[in-house]
Amino acid sequence: MTFTVTHSARFAVATTLDDLAVDLDGSLVRPGEPGWDEARCAWHLDVDQHPAAVAQVRTARDVVAVVNAARQCQLRVAAQSTGHNAAPLGDLAGTVLVRTGLMRDVEIDPVTRVARVQAGAWWMDVTNAAAEHGLAALAGSSPDVGVAGYTLGGGLSWLARSHGLAANSVLALEVVTADGVHRRVDAQHDPDLFWALRGGGGSFGVMTALELQLFPISEVYAGVLFFPAERATEVLQAWRAWLPTVPDTVTSVGRILKFPPLPDLPPHLAGRSFVVVEAACQLEPGTADQLLAPLRDLGPELDTFRPTPVTELSQLHMDPPGPVPGVGDGMLLHGLDAGLIEAFVAVSETTGPALLSMELRQLGGAIHRGSPTGGAVAALDADVALFAVGITPTPEITAAVHAAITAVRYRMAPWSKGRSYLNFAEERKSGDALFGPEIHARLREIKSTYDPADLIRANQPVTPAGR
Ligand SMILES: Cc1cc2nc3c(=O)[nH]c(=O)nc-3n(C[C@H](O)[C@H](O)[C@H](O)COP(=O)(O)OP(=O)(O)OC[C@H]3O[C@@H](n4cnc5c(N)ncnc54)[C@H](O)[C@@H]3O)c2cc1C
Repeated sequence: MTFTVTHSARFAVATTLDDLAVDLDGSLVRPGEPGWDEARCAWHLDVDQHPAAVAQVRTARDVVAVVNAARQCQLRVAAQSTGHNAAPLGDLAGTVLVRTGLMRDVEIDPVTRVARVQAGAWWMDVTNAAAEHGLAALAGSSPDVGVAGYTLGGGLSWLARSHGLAANSVLALEVVTADGVHRRVDAQHDPDLFWALRGGGGSFGVMTALELQLFPISEVYAGVLFFPAERATEVLQAWRAWLPTVPDTVTSVGRILKFPPLPDLPPHLAGRSFVVVEAACQLEPGTADQLLAPLRDLGPELDTFRPTPVTELSQLHMDPPGPVPGVGDGMLLHGLDAGLIEAFVAVSETTGPALLSMELRQLGGAIHRGSPTGGAVAALDADVALFAVGITPTPEITAAVHAAITAVRYRMAPWSKGRSYLNFAEERKSGDALFGPEIHARLREIKSTYDPADLIRANQPVTPAGR
């Protein structure tokens, strides 16, 4: 498996967007042109993106052309795969938005257990291709999340407590840096850049492909226990007590869900609120059943645990099946004590129906131990990752969701690590909050080496040192 890497632009650099439009194998769409609204639309439907142009790239050569032309035209460049985390990008005036949706090829090498993935691939593209060989990737909870943004930001999968963050399973990346050079980046080539790209986000170049380590897992024992929301304190306290008893081969979520009365939802869920425990166990069914017994003894209303092909893990978290308007945000919490659960349930009650989901994702295990060679974000040092999200169909509901998220942040502050996990940050955070001061400072040095003029923009930007 090899990358095709162009080490410099071998064609004339476009000096206007008109020239660029002619140069591309894909297409350049500008305001008012046919397809403009479709081209600028993010997965988060309420993020109204107005870039200078959208480049729908088809090849790495296209990406080189866009980066070089943007530099000539004194524009900036922002890469976007699906737009699952578009909100923090902010105002895109003066920016060419590079959309990678035409680049979704995936190749699996079953012998080396490596996936070569183009930058626009969704997780389902990888999980389905890998499963044909009995292999699994460290995929996100949702089938249509982009591999690119998820992996550059860390990547918490259902296998995370045994296998660590997805960024740590990256073997190589192909990236176009601000100078228009298309590089293969790995432990031997541009090692600083390789380090930065694994967890530091999208500030360092436009990625065109990456190589991921796969793992020989084809089936897990997974499911959800549903209880009425009125039992939230009892169930989440039991979940909290259960966590220290589970091995790293179990990754779980404790969660309060408030389903709106939508006709698309199954009748047993629509309009109802639940407290749920979701888990994926890399264990034999009998062993998993024994482990789950204390939670099942609580008498769930619905128990969906069963042997589950890894491809079906994308359904476990019940994420929306397609683009929605929504607002969310997360925080990392430590000290998972009874008070944390009490506060979590209390704020869920006071915020009413505004938040569709408030979750506590179990960390620890390999996520905590990290990997010394794993990259900029090699570990998450917290007990749980909180994420709260609401659907925002109207301005009034949007305001209510923002207020509810503020209330969650305030109520949970006593347990906050003062740090955020990049992928669960849907508002702009400081680099120190995302990475910690030392790693942030090193990321800024690397940014100043590869992009001193700050041409490449990310949703959570790292600015060059000295700027
Ligand atoms: C429904 C849902 C489920 C989720 N589940 C999980 C989960 O289980 N675990 C988890 O860790 N996270 C999860 N997330 C968060 C998700 O990982 C982030 O939103 C992530 O940024 C999405 O990546 P994307 O490429 O789809 O998004 P985009 O919005 O397209 O990209 C986000 C950022 O990634 C960078 N980027 C994207 N493509 C490139 C590229 N080619 N080159 C350089 N930079 C690039 C850019 O900085 C961009 O602003 C979930 C989010 C949602 C909405």
